Amino acid sequence: MQQDCIFCKIAQKEVPVQPVYEDEQIIAFPDINPAAPVHVLVIPKKHIANLLEITPDDRALAGHIMAVIPQVAARLGLAEDGFRVVINTKDNGGQTVHHLHCHILGGRFMTWPPG
Ligand code: 5GP
Repeated sequence: MQQDCIFCKIAQKEVPVQPVYEDEQIIAFPDINPAAPVHVLVIPKKHIANLLEITPDDRALAGHIMAVIPQVAARLGLAEDGFRVVINTKDNGGQTVHHLHCHILGGRFMTWPPG
């Protein structure tokens, strides 16, 4: 738990969300400012600032997140038409919340490259 981290507060239930998935290590919940018809964030409950801060001790957790993402996407009805997963990392990546999170975006066609 990191002081003043909004996603730590969500993970600790200090800030309420409506989870679309939750287990001991992960919580997934709708983005407050959706960029697509379906926009969900998947986060580890443990505070990890970004992808660069993943350590060898986090390997199982990282693998678990990757395994959960398609389950959550399927649960959200995105399996048939597909979806996009984004992990913004630090300033050039567009990261604004410094607690690792995976965006699941779906419900519309995504263009490439991103802005
Ligand atoms: P980033 O830009 O860091 O990749 O993405 C952060 C995301 O978190 C943004 O899409 C933003 O809308 C979302 N977000 C920021 N604060 C909150 C919040 O308090 N609740 C929820 N549900 N999403 C948030």
